[in-house]
Amino acid sequence: MGLKTLLTTHIDASDSHTLKHYQSVGGYESLKKALSEMTAEQIVNDVKNSGLRGRGGAGFPTGNKWGFIPKTDKPKYLICNGDEGEPGTFKDRMLIERFPHMLIEGMAIAAKAIDSHQGYIYIRGEFHKGIRIVETAVEEAYKAGLLGKNIFGLGYDFDLAVYSGAGAYICGEESALINSLEGRRGHPRLKPPFPAVSGLYACPTVVNNVETFCNVPHIIRMTGEEYKKIGTEKSPGTRLFAVSGHVKKPGIYEVEMGTPMKELIFDICGGIKNDKDLKAVIPGGSSSPILTKDEAMTATMDYESIASLKSMLGSGAVIILSEEADLVETTYRLAEFYSHESCGQCTPCREGTHWVKDLLHKIKKGEGTEKDVELIFSLSRNMEGGTTICPLADACVMAVRPTMTKFKEEFSLRLKKEVSVSH
Ligand code: SF4
Repeated sequence: MGLKTLLTTHIDASDSHTLKHYQSVGGYESLKKALSEMTAEQIVNDVKNSGLRGRGGAGFPTGNKWGFIPKTDKPKYLICNGDEGEPGTFKDRMLIERFPHMLIEGMAIAAKAIDSHQGYIYIRGEFHKGIRIVETAVEEAYKAGLLGKNIFGLGYDFDLAVYSGAGAYICGEESALINSLEGRRGHPRLKPPFPAVSGLYACPTVVNNVETFCNVPHIIRMTGEEYKKIGTEKSPGTRLFAVSGHVKKPGIYEVEMGTPMKELIFDICGGIKNDKDLKAVIPGGSSSPILTKDEAMTATMDYESIASLKSMLGSGAVIILSEEADLVETTYRLAEFYSHESCGQCTPCREGTHWVKDLLHKIKKGEGTEKDVELIFSLSRNMEGGTTICPLADACVMAVRPTMTKFKEEFSLRLKKEVSVSH
């Protein structure tokens, strides 16, 4: 366990984003293998055998997702979700800027697996540099015959286009992303039908995260069986963690799944800034429930361990909070983010996120009361559990309620002191 490079092996090469460098280290050999030696079913099975799970948030098994695509005559679309917007998350941006050909190769292999001939890379609009780099990489791949008609002369066609988002967090939700790609407002769709059946232009569609696609060439190269030997049995492979907050060496670290969180924070990231004590960890992006120091010290960086603590590995954003962190302020900031990003379609989310944010603002200013705390908990109950079209309202609850429960004292200390009136 610990640091292990698979995706980031060549991170030190200054030209890692170029086709020349990528091919010099074996790039596109997996695509050649997939197109010349494997059937679509074999690719899907290899990815299933690898145990690869989505690296975007939900952790759904990738091979199973591909296996849901019906065998119809309709066009099938493949989409890369590069709309990385979860607070604290910045690992896909690095992959986009440093390893665009790994992403393109992973998508081309996935295309054959689901019989898709058209793909899209949807990138967050603010990633200007990344968009330019990926566009250049796509151009290079077309010129080299690695995209387009008759790839490698092996008879498979796959076109790929780059699309820039417009900065809405909600477009990271796959059905909102699909609406945005179609030129509609980026609103999540009611499900079912799920994208596998009716996605882009009402056709079967697979949406995967950047890091998920980047794992695919490695799985095909080493086989699913070999890949599965990395990490833990149920969470195989490596994972890129974007570590931020109160650590001495924040950054992006690729580690083997199952690495103790303690090792990530203290050995790999150098420990807590200014040698302070650790107070809490948000383990998988802002919508993953906070862990106390004691919980964090027992956790390992894999889906099961974090889930057993009623949180999530989520988007791979690990936010470290030292004893100096103001959790009332942190919680307010997160609620403010969700209220700002709510698309407004569902009442519990549209009203709830704003109400929670306003109440937290009152508490933060020292003007809140016990009744306000109770009201936040009551609102939370109405915002979660499937009362909305997408999970944004749930995400807001997960960012707020566990912190208010586990760090009750800190919130209580900020409440307005009740003044007793004597007559
Ligand atoms: Fe929009 Fe919120 Fe409803 Fe999601 S839960 S569809 S963000 S209003």
